[in-house]
Amino acid sequence: MRFCADHMLGSLARWLRFLGFDTAYPEVLSDKELINLAESEKRVILTRDKELAKKRNIEALYIESTDLEEQLIQVIVGFNLKITDAFSRCSICNSILVPVKKALVKGKVPEKVYAWQNEYWECQKCQKYYWQGTHFQGIKAKLEELKGKTSAT
Ligand SMILES: [Zn+2]
Repeated sequence: MRFCADHMLGSLARWLRFLGFDTAYPEVLSDKELINLAESEKRVILTRDKELAKKRNIEALYIESTDLEEQLIQVIVGFNLKITDAFSRCSICNSILVPVKKALVKGKVPEKVYAWQNEYWECQKCQKYYWQGTHFQGIKAKLEELKGKTSAT
């Protein structure tokens, strides 16, 4: 499933990419342009705009909360998404990340990170490095827990 987040949902777009979901986050667009983009790229629109989400003939989800974790949960639980490709996409540009050997990031990531992280990924477009920080672990654990609850009921 591919997404297209409206301009109110930048953090959500970045986190969906982090978790491996192809998410477009275009510059501010009119409703019509946003719908065209979603249609041509077969993306589900994620929006804070209730009127837009209600339009006929489009696939859209109205995001209720302004809280990032609640937004993520709404999307992931709502579409029953499985997080199997975390760290496959750059949170900045949506490009595919490639794993890199630890030795290659020496001096390029903070020393403290280098000391305790063994797995790294690189975006070849922005040359940005990624690793699984504590914020990521926290959100992932929370999502797993919530998904456990929803599938049990
Ligand atoms: Zn990138």
